[in-house]
Amino acid sequence: MAQGEILQRFTPPAIRAVQYAKEEARRFQGNTVGSEHVLLGLIREQEGVAARVLEHLGVSLGRAQNEIRRQIEAMDTRGPAPASRSWSPGARRVLERATEEARELNPKLGLPSFVDTEHLLLGLVHDSDSAAVRVLHALGVDPEHVRREVIGQLGGGAAVTATLPKMEKVAVPAAAPEMEKWIDAAKRLGAAEAKMISPRSVVTAPWVRLKCQYGCGGWGLRLTCPPRSPTPEQTRAVLDCYTTAVLVHVPGEGNWRSIKQIVADLEREVFLAGHYKAFAFGSGPCDLCEECNLEACAHPHQARPAMEAAGIDVFATARANGFPIEVVRDHTCPQNYYGLVLVE
Ligand code: SF4
Repeated sequence: MAQGEILQRFTPPAIRAVQYAKEEARRFQGNTVGSEHVLLGLIREQEGVAARVLEHLGVSLGRAQNEIRRQIEAMDTRGPAPASRSWSPGARRVLERATEEARELNPKLGLPSFVDTEHLLLGLVHDSDSAAVRVLHALGVDPEHVRREVIGQLGGGAAVTATLPKMEKVAVPAAAPEMEKWIDAAKRLGAAEAKMISPRSVVTAPWVRLKCQYGCGGWGLRLTCPPRSPTPEQTRAVLDCYTTAVLVHVPGEGNWRSIKQIVADLEREVFLAGHYKAFAFGSGPCDLCEECNLEACAHPHQARPAMEAAGIDVFATARANGFPIEVVRDHTCPQNYYGLVLVE
């Protein structure tokens, strides 16, 4: 598979990790982008399972950089800086293996086969002869331990993973058919399309709030809007508590209103089915009351923050999950609205 084709399946954090890897190769004047640079890219990309796992195992950016520097000096492989850097065969294998890991693992979790940072990390430790694995060994980290930590983070559970030597034997929760029913439910409630997605593919960013603060006019007027709605940082922390979500799409002018009702109803159905953590994000400001009661919500079971109001980059999130969305320049442009229901 061509590299561009592989990267199409990558989530925004995984793409950023790849970009950081290229920067690290430049920093170390490597002739190619190697697996050791991918390791540094994964540490630098803070929004992901891989960074959490590596941090938990004590692999900091500074320690890894120092070790790579030491190995390069020992081998004396630095050459003149090339005009552009290709991927080393080892790093290419990491990208390909990450795609295979996602293809094998995600269906068991009821998720589409996107490639996230944890799949890159699994791809990284798969090749026992790689430069990245040499760095991990030098830092006192067992690659098999990395694999177990990743599976644990993905929902395998410490008690389960502790007894399981290989990923293939891990029992993972939430089979795909069980989750598929929420796609049908979303459509029954009025969505044109819906997908089961990983909450890790939902992009949050600090700049999103600026659009509410300076481009909306609704700042501070509703309980569901900033500054009362969750900050991007809070939303990120919340998203990381979940493994499964439904992304709901409704095209058509003004349909942000129907999204709100669909996700509120879907959240209720998901909750009543036993997923007690169910929570919805809609689209646009709450319009359930003419004037918002800023002291206490009049419709607490229905009023939910918009994705944007909670710091979610809706454009990046929709695109990362294969949905259409473009800037609406005038009324002739197609309009696409999105809502999100966190399941468990
Ligand atoms: S339901 Fe009413 S009180 Fe609650 S957030 Fe919406 S407008 Fe405000």
